[in-house]
Amino acid sequence: MTVRKIVKYGTPSLREKSKEVHKISKKVQILVDDLYDTMYATNGVGLAAPQIGENLRVFVIDVGTDPKTMNPITFINPKIIKKEGAINSYEGCLSFPEAYTNVRRYKSVKIKALDIKGKPFILEVTDGSLLARAIQHEFDHLDGILFIDHCRNRFETDKVLAEKGLGGVDSDYLIEEKELEEEIQKNPQQEENN
Ligand code: ZN
Repeated sequence: MTVRKIVKYGTPSLREKSKEVHKISKKVQILVDDLYDTMYATNGVGLAAPQIGENLRVFVIDVGTDPKTMNPITFINPKIIKKEGAINSYEGCLSFPEAYTNVRRYKSVKIKALDIKGKPFILEVTDGSLLARAIQHEFDHLDGILFIDHCRNRFETDKVLAEKGLGGVDSDYLIEEKELEEEIQKNPQQEENN
């Protein structure tokens, strides 16, 4: 039971591709416990292993807002097997304290992963909800992709990052996502979704 230090934007390991877990060892179980402890201690809804300095393909999510609605989900060696639709929302990240920016995401996502017992499961979330977006956000961390890479306006994002004392957008990592952007613009009612 340890609250670990969260690495901040600019730390090279956040850009590394994480390695698959080969065995649900005691070390992996402790890693998952630490992810939950650290996420709950910082009021996050998701946390990926690289954010506490461990480049392994593991993340946890809990979009429950109070102890009664707690819904912890552990994802080990996840694979996104389907994604469709488009949505935008203001997103933040524990590695970017207090910085929020407008990003593009898929509305629906279907993910396959192993749970903490090593048992495979499939989860599909089709409503563009916080859970759907958190899955995409945390999954990206395992490939060294950060939420700002999905930003809709790099200049606005740069401004927010500068205000929070963080480094700027790295254009080498920006993802174009033309189709997602076109779909978002066709459905402006989704602009308000958060
Ligand atoms: Zn994050």
